[in-house]
Amino acid sequence: MDAILEAEWGAFLAQQGLADEPEVAELVVEEPDRHDWRIVDAALDRLVCSECGGPLSRGPVGCGACDLANGFRYAAVETDRPGARPGNEHAVRVSVSVVRRPQGISEREVLARRLFLPELLSGDLPSTGQAQATKDRVNRMSVTEIEALFSLMLRNPGVGIP
Ligand SMILES: [Zn+2]
Repeated sequence: MDAILEAEWGAFLAQQGLADEPEVAELVVEEPDRHDWRIVDAALDRLVCSECGGPLSRGPVGCGACDLANGFRYAAVETDRPGARPGNEHAVRVSVSVVRRPQGISEREVLARRLFLPELLSGDLPSTGQAQATKDRVNRMSVTEIEALFSLMLRNPGVGIP
């Protein structure tokens, strides 16, 4: 998860000829609408929240500074990757956001998002019908069953959602 953001951040610094310094991250976070969301998220990871002391935007629900930064993140740009289905990048982004900041979101949804992520990252976007069918199935499973399925998929990357 963090690796995909880090790769994008490294490419951005190289392209701009910048060093990996907090000042650069601050500039990016101040202008989220000028950058790809992966770069904005990576920049936020480099900044410490002045209120809760955690990585900015990922603090507990109720931390004002984190909530604010989390809201601004959504001004960042979503660029569909070559070969990916239109809308895929948005789905990837929402899932990455949920997995990285699970506070206030049900355990079941976080697990389901994690399940879908490898498929999304491959550029695929399930149809609404497929997504709904999988969601129904996940809803009937216990959290323990979802976790077991997830670890199975991690060990066998080719395995899809049954
Ligand atoms: Zn905070």
